[in-house]
Amino acid sequence: DLLVVGSANADLVIGVERRPGAGETVLGSDLAVHPGGKGANQAVAAARLGARTALLARVGDDDHGRLLLDSQRAAGVDTAGVLAGGAPTGVALITVDPSGDNSIVVSPGANGRLTPADVRAATGLVHASEVVSAQLEIPLETVVEVVRTLAPGSRFVLNPSPPRELPREVLDACDPLIVNEHEAKVILGTSEAGEGPEDWARRLLAEGPRSVVVTLGAEGALVASAQGVARVPSVRVDAVDTTGAGDAFTAALAWRLGTGATLAEAAAYAARVGAAAVTKAGAQESYPTAREVEAL
Ligand code: ADP
Repeated sequence: DLLVVGSANADLVIGVERRPGAGETVLGSDLAVHPGGKGANQAVAAARLGARTALLARVGDDDHGRLLLDSQRAAGVDTAGVLAGGAPTGVALITVDPSGDNSIVVSPGANGRLTPADVRAATGLVHASEVVSAQLEIPLETVVEVVRTLAPGSRFVLNPSPPRELPREVLDACDPLIVNEHEAKVILGTSEAGEGPEDWARRLLAEGPRSVVVTLGAEGALVASAQGVARVPSVRVDAVDTTGAGDAFTAALAWRLGTGATLAEAAAYAARVGAAAVTKAGAQESYPTAREVEAL
């Protein structure tokens, strides 16, 4: 089974002709409200593929929290680990201009109140999972507690987003650490000129993870482990909206690893899932079923 520990946000999206400056008001489109947040996205992506998936997260006791619970249940995610209350549900306020560029303000809300004690109280859920996948839209000390709570032999997958410096204890547990270009650069500190993804993968591996995956958008991905660095072919598609592609990639990879796939096999499958996700608008709404991945 797969356990995702992470954030759940309501994405509030308004289309604008241009963004307001300080003190200015602009009129925009009708409001669209979508379930989002990296943890919630990953859980939905895995469940849609057919993975037995549970989510450990915190939402508010409010309408946004209920929207998120509904979308998880509709996808077939076990929501017994979704806690409610303590703060309003996390929200992302998103404006999109005609060229498709976003400006985003995130209020972490209840995500910031998912505590190490919540993880300890969910020890049974953590121990029931062969693979546990986390991101960084919840407090770092909560992610540290996840690492400490893992059952022996279970596998920990981390997408350090939004990126920040990580304690050695967390780095050492990652198998793999999954980063895009931006996250790789932040975690390594300033990147040296002339370095490419292969160099980042090798340098990240030297920081402690048992394996590393670098995602490269339309270029596919790289996998790195003690066996060396290998390229994962990209799948050519007409990209419509890349929102949430990284979350779908990570979820698919984590699930395949739990079924016994090698890192290279799991990453090749995840690249197909990520590619399918960019062919449709939205995040959770764009996630493919296993049948749709086969058809790609
Ligand atoms: P993030 O959203 O975290 O920045 P990426 O953009 O690297 O992550 O996307 C994650 C994965 O999704 C990529 O490694 C790739 O396999 C797939 N993917 C993303 N964008 C495209 C695209 N335009 N065409 C094909 N595959 C894509």
